[in-house]
Amino acid sequence: MNKWNGYNLIMLLGSLSFAAYADGNWGYHQPEQWSKLNQACNGAYQSPINIDKTVKAQLQPLRFSYNSLIQSIENKGHTIQVDFSQGGILHLDDDQFVLKQFHLHSPSENQIKGKSYPLEIHFVHANARGELAVVGMMFKEGTDNAMLKRMWQNLPKKSGEKIKLTDAQPVEHMLPKDLSYYRYSGSLTTPPCSEGVRWVILKHIQEASKQQIKQFADLMGHPNNRPLQPLNGRVIVE
Ligand SMILES: [Zn+2]
Repeated sequence: MNKWNGYNLIMLLGSLSFAAYADGNWGYHQPEQWSKLNQACNGAYQSPINIDKTVKAQLQPLRFSYNSLIQSIENKGHTIQVDFSQGGILHLDDDQFVLKQFHLHSPSENQIKGKSYPLEIHFVHANARGELAVVGMMFKEGTDNAMLKRMWQNLPKKSGEKIKLTDAQPVEHMLPKDLSYYRYSGSLTTPPCSEGVRWVILKHIQEASKQQIKQFADLMGHPNNRPLQPLNGRVIVE
C-alpha cells in the first residue's frame, strides 16, 4: 500500500468511526460524553431528577385508555423495549398522548425522596404534535410480578433480537389502581436528551421478585440509568 492509500484508509476509518459514534453509539459508562453527541444533553431541564421538595397542586386525575395488547419485546442493547399492536391513550392536559412503547431501567433513573428503586418502567407517549409524555413506574423488591413473569419468559438475549409474543396481554394490567402522581418538566434520559417532555411519576410502588429484577439486570449486564440531573429551579408538583 502506498502512502496516499494509507492516508485515505485512515481518513475513511476515522469518518466511519465518527459516523458510528454520531449514529447513537453511546453508553452508560460515560454519560458525561453524551453532550458531544447532542448539545441538548447539556440542557438546564434534564431528566432524571430526585423528586424531593414538591408543591401541592390540584392535579387533574390521570386517565389511561390502555386497550392495546403487548406484541413484541426487543433487546435494544441499552434497554428492553416492548411494542404494541395498537397504541393506548394517556389523557393529559386536555390532550391525547398515544402510547408508543415502554422500556425498563435498572436501577431506577428518577428517585423519590433520595431513594433509588431497583427497577423503573417508562411508558413513552406522544401527542399529534409529537410532544412527549413519559409515565415512570417504580418497582421495589417483593412478590413476583404477574405481568413481568409472562414477558420475562421470552426475553431476547442478544442486542437487536426481537421476540413476538404469542400470549398477547393488555398493557392496562400493568397499571396500579392508585394513580396519584408527581409531575415535572424534563427530557429524554438518553441521547438526543430532547427537552419539553412531560414527566409523570406514579407514587404507587409496584413489586417484583428479586429474581425478576436480577433477570433484567443480568440481561443488560450493566446499570442502565443516567445519573441524576440538577433541577435548576424547576418545580415538582403533586
Ligand atoms: Zn427510559
